[in-house]
Order: sequence, then C-alpha cells, then structure tokens
Amino acid sequence: MADAVVVGAGPNGLAAAIVLAQAGVSVRVVEAADTVGGGARSAELTLPGFVHDVCSAIHPLGVASPFFRTLPLAEHGVEWIEPPAALAHPFDDGTAVLLERSPEAAASDLGDDDVGWRRLFAPLVADAEPLLEDLLGPLHLPAHPVRLARFGARAAAPATTLARFAFRGERARGVFAGLAAHSMLRLDRPPSAAFGLTLGLLAHAVGWPLPRGGSQRLSDALASYLRSLGGEIETGRRVESLAELGEARPILLDVTPRGLLALAGDRLPTRYRHGLERYRYGPGVFKLDWALGGPIPWQAEECARAATVHLGATLEEIAVSEAAPGRGEIAEQPYVLLAQPSLFDPTRAPAGQHTAWAYCHVPNGSTVDMTERIEAQIERFAPGFRERILARSALGPAQMERYNENYVGGDINGGAATLSQLFTRPVARLSPYSTPLPGVFLCSSSTPPGGGVHGMCGYHAARAALRQTSGDSNTN
Ligand SMILES: Cc1cc2nc3c(=O)[nH]c(=O)nc-3n(C[C@H](O)[C@H](O)[C@H](O)COP(=O)(O)OP(=O)(O)OC[C@H]3O[C@@H](n4cnc5c(N)ncnc54)[C@H](O)[C@@H]3O)c2cc1C
Repeated sequence: MADAVVVGAGPNGLAAAIVLAQAGVSVRVVEAADTVGGGARSAELTLPGFVHDVCSAIHPLGVASPFFRTLPLAEHGVEWIEPPAALAHPFDDGTAVLLERSPEAAASDLGDDDVGWRRLFAPLVADAEPLLEDLLGPLHLPAHPVRLARFGARAAAPATTLARFAFRGERARGVFAGLAAHSMLRLDRPPSAAFGLTLGLLAHAVGWPLPRGGSQRLSDALASYLRSLGGEIETGRRVESLAELGEARPILLDVTPRGLLALAGDRLPTRYRHGLERYRYGPGVFKLDWALGGPIPWQAEECARAATVHLGATLEEIAVSEAAPGRGEIAEQPYVLLAQPSLFDPTRAPAGQHTAWAYCHVPNGSTVDMTERIEAQIERFAPGFRERILARSALGPAQMERYNENYVGGDINGGAATLSQLFTRPVARLSPYSTPLPGVFLCSSSTPPGGGVHGMCGYHAARAALRQTSGDSNTN
C-alpha cells in the first residue's frame, strides 16, 4: 500500500491525489466503480454509438477552477468546446434569451433590463479571477475582501428578492431564476442568489463549455496526469472500513458524511458523529438521456446556439417548481435543465443523430417517474421533440444512488447548500476537511466549496493533509 490513500476517484478524489503526488507523497486511489470519474463519467446509456454524460455535462466550474487551471489537462486529452452562447432560456412566445460571453451582448435580448443586467454582472466579470479564488474555498479571511463584500451584499439575498430588485421584466427575472435554481434551494431562501450570480458570472467570464468526447475525458485526463506523477489507481474495490487501509496516512475520503459514518463511525467522537448525523442532504434529481434522430426542434431556433437550455420560463414558475421538493412534493411543471452536447461535439452520436441530457429536482429519495413531465416541458418549447426520440434512459434518485453512493437520495451536491452548510460543511470546524481521526480527511463535495466538477474540495483537503503531516497544527 502507498503512503497515502484516497478513497473514491471522483473529481475531488483525483484532485486530492494529484496534490499529494505533486508534493512527492506516494498515493493510491481506491475506487468502488469499474471506471474513474464519479460524477464525471460518460457511457452509452441508450444505443451503441451514442455517448451520454451520466452525471455532469457542462463545466464552467471545471474551466474556472483555480486548481484545474494549473494542470496540463490538454496534454492528457482534454479539449474544451465552448458553444457560441453559454445558455438559452426560451419563453412561451417563441423567443429566447441567449447568455452570450459579454454581458453587453447578453443584455441585448433583455429589453428594458439591459442596463440592470450589465449593472449586476459587469463589475463581477471584471473581478472574476479574484472572486472565484475566494468563492471556491472554505470560509477564510478573503484575499480580496472589498470585492467579496460587494459580491456578498447581493449574494446573501434570496434569488427572488434580488431578481425583483435588479430587474423589471419577466425575461431577465426568469433567466436569473434559472441560474439560481442550480442551487437546489428554494428561490425565496438565501443564499440562492449566490448561485445565480456565480453561474452568470461564469457564463460571461469563462463560458459554459463541455469536453470533447464527454465528461469522462476530463476524469481520464486527471487520472492520466496522476499516473504520470507516480500515483496508482485501483478500480472495482469498495472500501468497507478504514481498518482495511492499515497504516496508510494521510487518508482522504471522497465520500459523504454518511459514507464516513459507515467507514469509521465507531471510531469517531460522539460530538463529531452527531454533527455528521445531523448533516442535511438536499433534493434529489430525476435524470433522462435520449438518443435522438435529429436535433431538438426548438421553436426559438436560437436555442441551438447554446449547449445548455433552461426550461421554466418565468421566475414565478421556476420558484414554484423549486419550492416543491422541500415540501416533499413534485412539481407538475418542473424546471428542467437540459444539455444538447452533440450539437457542438460530433463524437457524441452517429452522423445526423443527437444526444440530449436533462434533469429536474425532486424530493430526496422520490420514486415518482418524471419522464412524462420532463418531456412535456421540452415539447412546450420544442414541439415535435418526442417524435425524434430513438431511445431513452431514465435515472431516478434510487438509481442515481446505486450508480454512485455519494448521491444520497439522489442529491448530486453531496448535501444541501444552505447558509449553514455552504462554507462549513459537513461540520463546523476550523478546517472542515479534517476529522477528529489524525491523518483522516474528507475531500468530497460534502466539504467546501460544495457540488460541481472543480476539484477544489480535493485540492483544499489535500493541502490541509499536507499541512498536518508537516506539523502545522492549524489544520485541526
Ligand atoms: C445528473 C447530474 C448532473 C450534474 N451536472 C453537473 C454539471 O453539469 N456540471 C458540474 O460541474 N457538476 C454537475 N454535477 C455534479 C458533479 O457531478 C458532482 O458535484 C461531482 O462529481 C462531485 O465530485 P466528488 O469527487 O465530490 O464526488 P463524486 O464525483 O460523487 O465521486 C465520488 C466517488 O467515490 C466513490 N466512492 C464512494 N464511496 C466509496 C467507497 N467506500 N469505496 C470506494 N469508492 C467509493 C464513488 O464510487 C465515486 O466514484 C452533476 C451531477 C449529477 C448526478
């Protein structure tokens, strides 16, 4: 066994292993699944020749990640494709707002709110790099306090409040609601606005790109780079208990609090164990993938300029949809996040044919089949969509969890992104990555900065582990 072990080869596990290997530590990654990548994997879910992203598909956080940006990912096979627009947001009148790279261009679709959109996003875009550095980490003394305070003043609001304050019209409010709904929070609760601001900022600052060939390429590149540094990866082995890992230190766990309790619950002090037991998971997802005989026939044809399309039209409709899971209800007209990668990446489907990927939020652990409701939402903005379906794959919360045990009840973010769990997840400690067990760290999206394919949880956890190893006791 290597000196250090990382359990789980998701983006954060791989990032943690890379940081250790870069520091000269011999490291082995042990992964339960047969392939690396966790939530960033691709597979032929429908028909031969159709490559689907099983989980993540669009990677603004991947290109913006301060850690991934330092890695030679292109040399290891990553080619980012940036569609002309980050996002399309269609409306019932057959038009759509396209989020273009520059806030000025985006604002042109927003009518009366063009000034408001620019006023909100242009200063953030100007500060993008330092802001993202501060946002993609644990609670800390910010490197750029003034910029962060400016962001925080708006970000701390509920999305509905900020949208109504910043914009007068339905279009800009709807687009902002769609961005904020990535939080999987109720939109009338803080800090849902923070997600709207961050995703809008990313759209303008770096775009919303996808890797040619699928998300698996990003994971394979991380694995390939790790191996080039001497790291080892063992797939197809689920770790059942920390005891299996012997004397290896540090141990970094790309698992949720529930995973940590299963691996080492009996060894944890009561207070910390209770903290993990109290940790809250968020809504689940119901996900569909389709093999299509042709492109999605959007009524607003310009939707074909973006790989991501948000379906839900207005702030009011999206807010109603996002409030339902928290009450244990499903939305009859769910807000749907859709990706159409094959429009920009011909490797995803046979010539002339296409793939599409979509999901909506449902109560944690829901068993309701959302296929009909999701397809009705697409049909609403793209009449004739159903006629193009050649085959479909459906994954509800239970199947998601079976696919990747980190998706507890179908929660794809490793825990709810509430105010109390955003920067201090999973348990409030000086270093949220450390555990009371010496040399044992959490590095999954259940630690700051939370969900998404950015590797920053793994990066910060590994740095905390290295500090502890080198005797800097600050990390505990
Ligand atoms: C449907 C869906 C859509 C998404 N869309 C996007 C998107 O477009 N963009 C984006 O940035 N993010 C997206 N995400 C979120 C993103 O996939 C996750 O936030 C990210 O993968 C978290 O990375 P991680 O390394 O923390 O955990 P994971 O990626 O979940 O990896 C954890 C790994 O640990 C392994 N593991 C767990 N326990 C053990 C054990 N005991 N022994 C061995 N191995 C173990 C698991 O098998 C898994 O491979 C999406 C997720 C889903 C499900």
